[in-house]
Amino acid sequence: MNNLLTDIAGVRVGHADDAELASGVTAVIFDRPAVAAMDVRGGGPGTREGALLDLVNTVESQLYENPEWLDPHRYAAQGLEKLGEFHKTYSAAPADVMMQEKRFELPMEKDVTVLGRIDQVNRISGDEVEVVDYKTGRPKSQKDADTSLQLSLYALAARDVLELTPARLTFYNLTTNEAVSSQRDEKALSKAREIVATTADLIRTGEYPAKPGFVCGFCDFQALCPAHEQFVTIRPTIK
Ligand code: SF4
Repeated sequence: MNNLLTDIAGVRVGHADDAELASGVTAVIFDRPAVAAMDVRGGGPGTREGALLDLVNTVESQLYENPEWLDPHRYAAQGLEKLGEFHKTYSAAPADVMMQEKRFELPMEKDVTVLGRIDQVNRISGDEVEVVDYKTGRPKSQKDADTSLQLSLYALAARDVLELTPARLTFYNLTTNEAVSSQRDEKALSKAREIVATTADLIRTGEYPAKPGFVCGFCDFQALCPAHEQFVTIRPTIK
């Protein structure tokens, strides 16, 4: 033991310097991903790789330990399996598909145009249609479908742009191969228009009010977020 960094197994160190130039460089290399810290001193440290020590980069070490997470064959196999299940279900009762990946430009109040693309429009009968949005990941609930602004805007686009009657609005989850459907009445469509107009006003005035909720638990900005500020009373010390 020489009481040097190189005493640690799995750590390699290289160094070079130029006394005349008053500069140098040291490289510390770990044979395997490791948790490390760094103390940067001096007026002009030219460190570049210090950012590698950021905690988020521990993800890299996790990927190193679990290479199957990046295995494209695994995802391809899952995708094929889901596609097979979808094909089986779909073939049993095929839809009367009118449009797929249908782009729209929906004029709204306050000189706003909403641009979008509907995954699929199926004919039910006459001009009555089902608007379908395909999803992956967490399955949508009935409440999600009933309150979705996305589906409301699709309903408006189907009615006002495509001149169809959106009788059914569906989230189809490809992961579970399940559909959840909803409808919109005139009141719900007016509400969607109101939300878009209000949002446009806020954007134009540069206001982006925080909307605390479930997602706050996962938000990296909670410590800075005004919605989570707390008043703290500081009492003067009594002597
Ligand atoms: S903590 Fe603030 S910024 Fe983050 S999700 Fe919640 S309200 Fe939005």
